[in-house]
Amino acid sequence: MSVISDSDIGRLRAILRPGPDTQRDAVIGTEDAKESWGELRVDESLQRFSTMRVGGPARILAEPGSEEETIALIRAAESVGIPYITIGNGSNIVVSDRGVDALVIRFAERFSDVSEVTPEDLPGIPPDQDGNPIPDLSGLLFFRAEAGALLSSVAVRAAKAAGAGMEFAGGIPGSIGGAVRMNAGAYCSEMADILIFARVIDPDGEVRDYRVDQMELGYRESRFSKKGGIVLSVWIALKRGDPREILMRMSELNAKRAASQPLNLPSCGSAFKRPPGHFAGALIEQAGLKGFSIGGAQVSVKHAGFIVNKGGATAQDIYDLSKYIIRTVREQSKVTLDPEICFLGFKHE
Ligand SMILES: Cc1cc2nc3c(=O)[nH]c(=O)nc-3n(C[C@H](O)[C@H](O)[C@H](O)COP(=O)(O)OP(=O)(O)OC[C@H]3O[C@@H](n4cnc5c(N)ncnc54)[C@H](O)[C@@H]3O)c2cc1C
Repeated sequence: MSVISDSDIGRLRAILRPGPDTQRDAVIGTEDAKESWGELRVDESLQRFSTMRVGGPARILAEPGSEEETIALIRAAESVGIPYITIGNGSNIVVSDRGVDALVIRFAERFSDVSEVTPEDLPGIPPDQDGNPIPDLSGLLFFRAEAGALLSSVAVRAAKAAGAGMEFAGGIPGSIGGAVRMNAGAYCSEMADILIFARVIDPDGEVRDYRVDQMELGYRESRFSKKGGIVLSVWIALKRGDPREILMRMSELNAKRAASQPLNLPSCGSAFKRPPGHFAGALIEQAGLKGFSIGGAQVSVKHAGFIVNKGGATAQDIYDLSKYIIRTVREQSKVTLDPEICFLGFKHE
């Protein structure tokens, strides 16, 4: 792992500092810079990094390859006063068509290592609800994943090593860092059931290890969605099972998903959270909105809880359709839907 020196930070600040593009591009283009930070791209469209396939450019896009690189990027961005945001696989974001005037830190292949670990490798032993240490970890299997690892890769890797309990996540197209922030879940299981620790850069710049009971995991939310924080690495604990059975169960769930969801069109999955006592898709359908479009954004005809890009949608189309759905459902059912999609760079997020 590379150690980031003060002179590295100085060079990075030179890249991030607003100034003549030619000067900035000259630093970005050097082999040195690429070696330290991976590729830094200026005004890079985020469209291809979003499963909705919409959105404008990032002022600078970085794909760090380690915790140190990420910390250095954040320190440099803070020291020159440019905002930063983190994305994973872009399966729950819609970036505005104008783009985001920020450093976008994307956790992807360069930061996606997954490994099986022993209890001794864990940052600590998690206590139970009353604060007592869990006495017996025998029989459990432990895995560590870097934030950019895809949930499907972690689930398959774990299944092959006999780790059972992550089958629910095999078809969720997010990174594990994004999944912790969202407490992603499906088929009556969620990240909270398998997580034990996460290493996080807090908004104050400190790196801390959180136990699962400190992560405030709720329905599609976490302390990181409420209070900020960038998830760097994740530790999960799984029961021991039979690899063939685990993989079979995963493909059954994936088949169920394919039968009920419009996976042939770009989307962010469910556009709205499930309101207590209702299903968002049913409310939207009852409001007569199934198939309704604004521009290229459409309420899926296969599953009314999904907004899809039926071709040529802009981010604004998705945003406007989402607002229209909320208004119409509220008028008809007196229920206010809460978006699950994270809208980035919009005036009224
Ligand atoms: C076809 C389809 C099906 C889906 N099915 C499900 C489902 O069954 N269940 C479910 O829960 N979700 C589902 N989703 C939504 C999505 O996959 C999840 O929310 C996923 O966890 C998002 O991960 P991501 O890496 O793509 O995050 P992104 O979309 O990149 O980011 C989402 C949010 O998390 C933040 N973020 C990303 N990485 C980090 C990090 N390392 N640290 C802190 N914050 C971070 C971003 O800033 C953003 O606010 C589905 C999406 C699609 C397209």
